[in-house]
This record gives sequence, C-alpha cells and structure tokens, in this order.
Amino acid sequence: MIYLDHAATAPVPPEVADAVRDTLVNCFGNPSSQYGIGREAKALVARCRETVAGALGCEAERLAFTSCGTESDNWVIRLAAHQGRHAGRHIITTAIEHSAVLEPCKQLEREGYSVTYLKPDKSGGITAAQVAEALREDTVLVSVMLVNNENGCILPIPEIAEALKNAGSAALLHTDAVQGFLNVPCCPHTLGADLVSISGHKVGAPKGVGALYLGARVKTPLPLLAGGGQEMGLRSGTEATAQLAGFAKAVELRQARLDTAPAHRSAVKAYALDKLLAIEGVERVGNGEAPHILAISLVGYPSANIVEDLGAQGICVSAGSACHRGRASHVYEAMGLSKKVKAGVLRLSFGPETRTSDIDALAEALIRHRDTRFPML
Ligand code: PLP
Repeated sequence: MIYLDHAATAPVPPEVADAVRDTLVNCFGNPSSQYGIGREAKALVARCRETVAGALGCEAERLAFTSCGTESDNWVIRLAAHQGRHAGRHIITTAIEHSAVLEPCKQLEREGYSVTYLKPDKSGGITAAQVAEALREDTVLVSVMLVNNENGCILPIPEIAEALKNAGSAALLHTDAVQGFLNVPCCPHTLGADLVSISGHKVGAPKGVGALYLGARVKTPLPLLAGGGQEMGLRSGTEATAQLAGFAKAVELRQARLDTAPAHRSAVKAYALDKLLAIEGVERVGNGEAPHILAISLVGYPSANIVEDLGAQGICVSAGSACHRGRASHVYEAMGLSKKVKAGVLRLSFGPETRTSDIDALAEALIRHRDTRFPML
C-alpha cells in the first residue's frame, strides 16, 4: 500500500501500540483510586501530560486532554462565548476552518451570535489585515486555524495576535493546530494564542485522544463535562489512560525525529511538485507552505473517480478532508477555483515514512487515469 493521506490519519507505530497494550494490561487502575495501581495510573497521566505539553511548548497544568480535535474545537467555541457573554456576541473565523469549528459557530449563529467568515484569496491564505478589518467592539473570539488541512496554507497566527493587541481587543485567540502540531512551530506562547487544539491520531497516536491548551486569559473556563472533576475539574470522566500512553509515545517518537522530519517531508513535497506538475493536465491548487500537505488537481477529471481508481491500485489519497466523505469541499469552494480545477482536486499528505518512490507510483497512476478515463464534459 502507498499511503499519501497522513492528514486524514497517521499510521500507528508498533512502539505506540505496545505502549497502549502495556497500559491496558499492566496499568489498568483508575487514576482516581487511592491505592497502588490507582496511583500508578495517576502518575502515568501526569507523565503523558508533561510529554504532550512539552512538545507543544506549554505548561502541563494548562493542557486538558480531550477525546479528539473536534471535541477541543467545540469546547473552545462554547467556552469563549461563555467567557465573553457580557462583552459581546461576535466571532471571527475563516471560511476554510475544519467543520469542527464551523459547525459550532453555526450553532451559535442560531442562538443569535454573529459570525464573520473570512474568505481566502486564490492562494488559500488569510491575512492578519483581514482579521483586523473584521474586528468589532463586541468580538469575543477569533478562531483561525494554524495549518489548513486541505490546501496546506500556514495562517499567520502571531501576526493576528499582534493585530488584536494593537487594536486593544479583549477577544480570545484560538487556533486549531490539529494539522500544525509537530509539523510546524506551534508553541502557544510564540503564536500568541489563548487556546490551541490538537489531536493525537494525526501524529501516530490511537484515535480517540486530543488536547486543548487553555492560556491564562481564559478565566474560569466553562467545564466541558461536569462530574468527578478530572482534568483540573474541566472535563470530568475517567481518564483514557491507554490512549494517553499511546499519545505520549507517539509524540516522543515524532519529537525524536523533529530535527529531520519536516525537512524530509519538505523534500518529498518538493519532489512531488516537480514530478506531478510535469504531468500534462495537473495543476497546483493554492500555495500551501506546510511541509506535509500538497493540493493538486487533475483538471477536469472528477476526483471521486481518481480516488477510487488509485485506491484500487493500493494508493491512498483523498479529495479533501476525510470528514467530507466525498461531499464537495468548502475550502476549495471558498478559494474560488474554476469548476474544472475544483472537480479534480486531490489532497496529498506525507508522513515520516513517505518515500519519493511513492510519488513516482502516484505519478504513473495519474497518467494512466488521465489516458484511460473520461474527463467531465
Ligand atoms: N481540525 C483539523 C484542521 C483537522 O484536520 C481535523 C481532522 O481532520 C480536526 C480538526 C478534527 O480532529 P479529530 O479527527 O481528532 O476530531
């Protein structure tokens, strides 16, 4: 199999699977239990928090574990609205966010909030000036992703933080860093973000674990789940110890390769650009700078057919976010691509294991597809 869909989810390394199994079998205690195996489990959760917070570049006590990136994003929208409820009812976000941000924003709109969805230019990016222009006295949250999951654009979070400061805005700044974590610099302090969402399965952890950084400007955060008071009283529920152990191990493995991994992915991406754009009929989509995501189009050929055809040959790519499940992508729509370019969009995404020979195989398969299938009319 040739796997070029790391932005959908990453393969789980054997060391991670071992850490999960070891925890399930040997460290099964409830972290809240007041005897040996409970204390062991509690210590394990604390170590996992240190590891993930260390990789993100934040204090462990400011990182709450969640079940996924979607949960972290949903929580942010609710808690920022709650914190700002006396200050205003305006939110700024972008038209290219993941649906984990867009859908809760739409829910708030139905409750009377006003949401500004900033549109990208053709390159797929958003500027800090756009945010500054949209800012209002009653803006309580600015939520802009760090790396777009479909076009690979890196959005200017530090500049947006600066713009909020210059405008004297009290709005909280959130960034969905699910695609940024361990791929581009993502420390909340360097970014100037109050809230940062991440997800485990994009970096080799099992599915079902994520985290949310809550900065000092998040005052008395709205708990996501009420109950036994786990996760600093913010998200009750017995901790998912095995998933957390897998998350921490995956992060450790990625960190150990951090010196070389982004350079490796950038080299693969540069190779892919050369190789694929040399194919007649293939165009680049947007100008995303993230080292691991590249959007292209086999212009005029429906991407659902390409994905299926490649899949039958053991080559896994996607036509956009896996969450769209084949529906048209709002990101490519917002970028204003022509109908034919939009029809043929493919998102390629690379991981530590991706080789240039994988790109060669993809190039051959794309040429075969172009030469043997019918384009749209
Ligand atoms: N945000 C972005 C940018 C993503 O790419 C994804 C997943 O594709 C999510 C949020 C949701 O993360 P999860 O799958 O952990 O819920």
